[in-house]
Amino acid sequence: MNSARIRDNLLAVRERIAAAARRSGRDPSAVTLVAVTKKRPVEQVRALIEAGAADLGENYPQELWEKVEALADAPPARWHLIGHLQGNKAKRTFPLVRMIHAVDSLKLLRTLDEMAADAPNPPEVCLQVNTSAEEAKHGWKDASIIDDAGAIAEISRIRVVGLMTMAGWGTDAETARPSFVRLRAIRDALRRQTGLALPHLSMGMSNDFEAAVEEGATLVRVGSALFDGVEP
Ligand SMILES: *Cc1c(COP(=O)(O)O)cnc(C)c1O
Repeated sequence: MNSARIRDNLLAVRERIAAAARRSGRDPSAVTLVAVTKKRPVEQVRALIEAGAADLGENYPQELWEKVEALADAPPARWHLIGHLQGNKAKRTFPLVRMIHAVDSLKLLRTLDEMAADAPNPPEVCLQVNTSAEEAKHGWKDASIIDDAGAIAEISRIRVVGLMTMAGWGTDAETARPSFVRLRAIRDALRRQTGLALPHLSMGMSNDFEAAVEEGATLVRVGSALFDGVEP
């Protein structure tokens, strides 16, 4: 029962992403759905993978390690760490993930860059920017990341591929939209200052992903909408 529901939810979310992309003149294939599986049991994650989810996101390194191991026999998926990473958990996380979305300080970025020297295939990273002026969030405060452009441009072993933001819990799409517009503007400025391509904008969650796609998201991180009607 759950598997059918999860499959239907996945198809519905994908269709909404595609419709939002078309509305804004974008190619739907330019947007990757990262299915956020935090706090969901392995069997539900397996159902999601079997329904065709190819990119999965976890918040906590420990939970990610456990899920990757438990799903070793499932069809292959690309894993993303979307939550905060402490330097001491990086070594074990590196080989398991395609991307780390929430690198939230220059110090952490430099640590990861040093660790990447010994990693055969280090993940790509996005830098987290707090665009919503809420004190509690991790990340560079809004445009302050531009001050670090020179240092970011010197990162050589790990690939910085874009920016990530969280518009805030429980906000709706229109409340969130200014954060997405802002992240794109900061990305454009950082691109000019660093010369990096910075193709990725990781933004948009269950409540606001359509606005994020309309404003240029290339990665949306959607959890609860995929598990609608499914008990944890
Ligand atoms: C949980 C989480 C999401 C997904 O949120 P939903 O509202 O469940 O879609 C996305 N990004 C981050 C960083 C999260 O922690």
